Amino acid sequence: MMGQSGDTAVAVPSEGWNYSPAPERTRPEIDSEYGLFIGGEFQAPQSDRTFNTINPATGQRLSRISEASEEDVDAAMAAARVAGPKWARMKGRERGKYLFRLARRVQECARELAVLETMDGGKPIKESRDVDLPLVAQHFFYHAGWADKLQWAFGGRDVKPRGVCGQIIPWNFPLLMAAWKLAPALACGNTVVLKPAETTSLTALHLAKLMQEIDLPPGVVNIVTGAGDTGRMVASHPAVKKVAFTGSTEVGRRIMEELAPREVPLTLELGGKSANIVFADAAIEQAIEGVVSGIWFNQGHVCCAGSRLLVEESILEPFVAALRDRMAQLRVGDPLDKNTDIGAINSSEQLDRIRALVTAGQEEGAILHDVQSTPLPEQGFWFPPCFFTGVQPAHVVAREEIFGPVLAVMSFRTPEEAIRRANTTPYGLAAGIWTDKGSKIFEIASRMDAGVVWCNTYNQFDAASPFGGVKESGFGREGGLQGLRAYVR
Ligand code: NAD
Ligand code: MN
Repeated sequence: MMGQSGDTAVAVPSEGWNYSPAPERTRPEIDSEYGLFIGGEFQAPQSDRTFNTINPATGQRLSRISEASEEDVDAAMAAARVAGPKWARMKGRERGKYLFRLARRVQECARELAVLETMDGGKPIKESRDVDLPLVAQHFFYHAGWADKLQWAFGGRDVKPRGVCGQIIPWNFPLLMAAWKLAPALACGNTVVLKPAETTSLTALHLAKLMQEIDLPPGVVNIVTGAGDTGRMVASHPAVKKVAFTGSTEVGRRIMEELAPREVPLTLELGGKSANIVFADAAIEQAIEGVVSGIWFNQGHVCCAGSRLLVEESILEPFVAALRDRMAQLRVGDPLDKNTDIGAINSSEQLDRIRALVTAGQEEGAILHDVQSTPLPEQGFWFPPCFFTGVQPAHVVAREEIFGPVLAVMSFRTPEEAIRRANTTPYGLAAGIWTDKGSKIFEIASRMDAGVVWCNTYNQFDAASPFGGVKESGFGREGGLQGLRAYVR
């Protein structure tokens, strides 16, 4: 693929393809300031406090977001509580209609929402356009279909909603995580207070506007913005009858401690350090693509990122060489450019975390391979994709979640060793297995301590397919029939 020149339209320098810029030109309307979405209306926060949300690719402010205080969270909870009984009593097929309408409005506005997601969070437009937004619509459609079939879902039993749900989500898939949380809760007749991540609140707030447009009854969904304090208030509020959290293991643990004395069901989707295991008999080109998308998708801001690569020793050298070549072709830069593979790091804090862990990896003696040739933009937060070889299982880069485009490469000799190494982590979110042998797939998949195992593919998601972790990656499932269970009694 590289180095061909001559009569092609694009200039091809020796280091790889050069593409002409292909910027996405759609610009969503962004308000200068957003209130809290409570009882169907946007309201100024009683706290009178706001904070900036920026575009991490430029460092520029996009808007001001309200910071919800204790009184604001109380007001949101009260609105959810008041809306609860009527929403719960409504026939499932009527609730389903609202979800269908919302799904259709999301599709109609998909372009603007994708651009907004990219501007607020830094992920490449081709991901927000082709992955996030289609999955968001799919989640609402899928759960709309369950709303009037709940007694079939639960073996003829007459299930009831739990009541007010407190839902707290991270910044890596802002709108998709909102959809994952809201759709099953609403389908089952619950009402919600949702708290988006502080760096990426815009798409959830725009989703609230769509909820107004489809006349979703006021108070069924309430959105309170703010940082960790607001999240803590949502999770620990006495009105809450179910808590769902996605984010770091550290915060998940804190929420669990806080809820321990109370009988509030909790689901946690936490961090990961997932392994891709590549056997010598795998389709190598395909495995390279899978490994690349597994770690460099969304700048590695993915809880199930395949951040550890285990390669069978006999092919380690050629595999690493192929990986290096493929990596050199990744285009890092303007997330709004349709050719961009790797966008901006979500925040300066996250960039600092990634840098610190990479430095620690070098200090421990692992070898850093940084072959990116694209010059990084001067403004904003960027980290070039890279990988480590010479990694020992005890090294920081083999153990800790980096949540950035950094891959730790290790090798193995036997399937037993691969299984042992893959499972040697406190996390258990996902794993990938690459081999030509079906028998190996079944044997190894069954022995992975992971909630999701992909075989000869990676990072595939579907609303009908439950997602979630084991061990320190959390508990509970989102998506599918399993995901509904958390939202009913
Ligand atoms: P975080 O856990 O701090 O934040 C996630 C969400 O929880 C945000 O909405 C945040 O405001 C909220 N929050 C923070 N403190 C809280 C508290 N005490 N009680 C209730 N809610 C609280 O994650 P982060 O700061 O965004 O990132 C830190 C690390 O978390 C990352 O480096 C990564 O390892 C991990 N992470 C995991 C996921 C995932 O999808 N599993 C997503 C983002 C981050
Ligand atoms: Mn932002």
